[in-house]
Amino acid sequence: VTAAITVAPLPAAMGKGATIAVLDQSVAEEAEQMRRDFVANVSHELKTPLTAMIGFIETLRGPARHDEKARDRFLDIMEREAGRMNRLVSELLSLSRVQSEERRRPTASLDLALLLRGVVATMTPVAEAAGVVIEAEGMSESLRVPGDADQLVQVFQNLFENAIKYGGSGGYLGIRLRRVEYEPLMRGPAWAVDVQDRGEGIDGMHLPRLTERFYRVDTHRSRAQGGTGLGLAIVKHIINRHRGRLRIDSQRGKGSTFTVILPETTARE
Ligand code: ADP
Repeated sequence: VTAAITVAPLPAAMGKGATIAVLDQSVAEEAEQMRRDFVANVSHELKTPLTAMIGFIETLRGPARHDEKARDRFLDIMEREAGRMNRLVSELLSLSRVQSEERRRPTASLDLALLLRGVVATMTPVAEAAGVVIEAEGMSESLRVPGDADQLVQVFQNLFENAIKYGGSGGYLGIRLRRVEYEPLMRGPAWAVDVQDRGEGIDGMHLPRLTERFYRVDTHRSRAQGGTGLGLAIVKHIINRHRGRLRIDSQRGKGSTFTVILPETTARE
């Protein structure tokens, strides 16, 4: 089965009136609940490495005091856990920045083909180390689009990294830039970038929740790979800011394609 989801921008603010006031109340409650869940998730994600580190410090002070081998091993683990916390905090800051900018459309423009070639060049050694061959298509000519270059680099770097981390078993990462004559969701022409892997794919039931903060298909595996569960949430907010869409098509056993669709012009609101 091929399943697909699209991630849409936040609904516009609602109007005034008695009925709406009730609606606003439930929206506020939902937002408050989401905020509470988020704080609980962040606390849990930070507490896990902290608890491990405290345990190792205690062991180093006590039973492993004179065991040099154990000391080196524990220090390695503590370094890894501290690195994880560091990454998590950086990504939380990045998410918060992206969210606060979401309603402000980017005013700059960039060369999308050049930007993609840059990300491909950065990721090639990472792919090679994982035994993944990158195939890039459609990015030879310069192509100006409205957008925030740093943020779009973050989007594609994230998607490439995921394709290598989770879809790398297929040994293939395809990146294709193509023009869409008419994108119904944008009521106009658009640019699409397909990021395709031939890895194990994702079960359809996970797709609608994949871009939620801290949602992972396999938490243990994500952690082992150094993941924070925030990558696709950041991607989603950046794409929303660009009034674009993210499409995810995946087939268990065959691989996944993440498609970023960006409107061709800024004119349409
Ligand atoms: P993480 O930090 O865990 O990588 P992301 O938000 O980037 O967080 O991704 C969320 C989850 O989506 C991952 O944990 C993984 O389970 C799944 N995922 C993302 N990309 C792919 C892919 N190309 N193939 C299979 N699973 C993927």
